[in-house]
Amino acid sequence: MSKKGIQSVRGFSDILPEESPLWQHAESVIRRVLEAYGYREIRLPVLERTELFSRSIGEVTDIVEKEMYTFEDRNGDSVTLRPEGTAGCVRAGIQSGLLHNAEPRLWYAGPMFRHERPQKGRLRQFHQVGAEVFGVSAPELDAEMIIMTARMLRELGLADVRLQLNTLGTPESRAAHREELVAYLRRHEDRLDEDARRRLETNPLRIFDSKNPEVQQVMADAPRLMDCLDRESAEHFAVVRNLLERAGVEYEVNPALVRGLDYYTRTVFEWVTDRLGAQGTVCAGGRFDGLVEQLGGRPTPAVGFALGLERLVALLEDQGAPGDGGAPHAYLVVATETGAGLEAAEALRDALPGLRLQAHTGGGGFKAQLKRADRSGARVALILGDEEQAAGALTIKDLRGEEGQQQLAFDDAVAYLRGLTGA
Ligand code: ATP
Ligand code: MG
Repeated sequence: MSKKGIQSVRGFSDILPEESPLWQHAESVIRRVLEAYGYREIRLPVLERTELFSRSIGEVTDIVEKEMYTFEDRNGDSVTLRPEGTAGCVRAGIQSGLLHNAEPRLWYAGPMFRHERPQKGRLRQFHQVGAEVFGVSAPELDAEMIIMTARMLRELGLADVRLQLNTLGTPESRAAHREELVAYLRRHEDRLDEDARRRLETNPLRIFDSKNPEVQQVMADAPRLMDCLDRESAEHFAVVRNLLERAGVEYEVNPALVRGLDYYTRTVFEWVTDRLGAQGTVCAGGRFDGLVEQLGGRPTPAVGFALGLERLVALLEDQGAPGDGGAPHAYLVVATETGAGLEAAEALRDALPGLRLQAHTGGGGFKAQLKRADRSGARVALILGDEEQAAGALTIKDLRGEEGQQQLAFDDAVAYLRGLTGA
């Protein structure tokens, strides 16, 4: 063991107290917007049977081929730490009967696990908020979900994110496209990397998702699925585009956008930014009409998205998002008998929900307590001495500004503190 103590596992990081306020802010805005569209929370297990993911995400995807945390549990069953939330959400929906004769709107949040190369915006444990709607095949839903993600990003104050849109048609249009694509790729096989060559046989559409610049160049001129669309998928896409335009949501069509998971049909979208280097996708989703049936449920259309919280928070930080780091508003210095300190603190919390108050514990001199108050990051120190106690008052000392100190009757002190909490 190193002198520094036991270190965390590579790619698994802590979210420290000074970072959590920004996370909480992001989570609460997202949650409020989801609720405004009638979504309800579902909480799902972190561990699932391995076959749930291999059957849904696709055997020939980065995730299933090389990124899953898969192991045998003590009974010898193969289990996997969830790499994403959709599969588990569909599984739970089928298992609970929630999807039948209903159009549930569900959201979830929590950690996901992928054994990738850790770098900025790419961790092995990362966090997503995701949402899925089942039972609706109309293109209005695709549009509404995208409009909702636009509202989320807007209400979070995110600048510099662009919406990319594509359609993947149906399995039938994909089959027609596949032939053309394979013929094209065979002509350029010398410029493909090993991964792409292998996928040429198994899942050529995946090659559009390659992160290799040379391969991306080849794909830039490859036949587009967009040109092989069946009539209904083309109409579906046209309606989605029209509705986005009517809602004033700007987008660019990116025919090379295929997403990293196999279950998508028709609409796919990503919100991307140039501010996070190569890890530019903040939020991504689309329609997956075949997945419920594929996992053993009745045929049920669906649309969903997932948003990466690490990348979202990094963007907010990059923009210099305001935040006080969650420090207490006030630190109570107790220069009288200790019991009176706890009493006064409880009375303050009763009077002012939302007040972040840290009361000094453990005695010690007045000066030492004031030093602690300062180090806590609090805006003000509240001083309770014998005199204040006798008068039912508190002395308030401004630790950050020019206001100096003043003794106020309890109710006036509460009014003063209310101003600090912004309530
Ligand atoms: P990428 O192309 O960046 O690998 P992906 O297509 O694998 O992303 P999805 O499976 O669509 O990602 O996940 C949705 C979102 O979750 C991503 O847009 C991203 O914001 C976030 N995300 C995915 N993988 C990671 C990771 N390893 N670390 C942090 N965030 C991630
Ligand atoms: Mg990935």
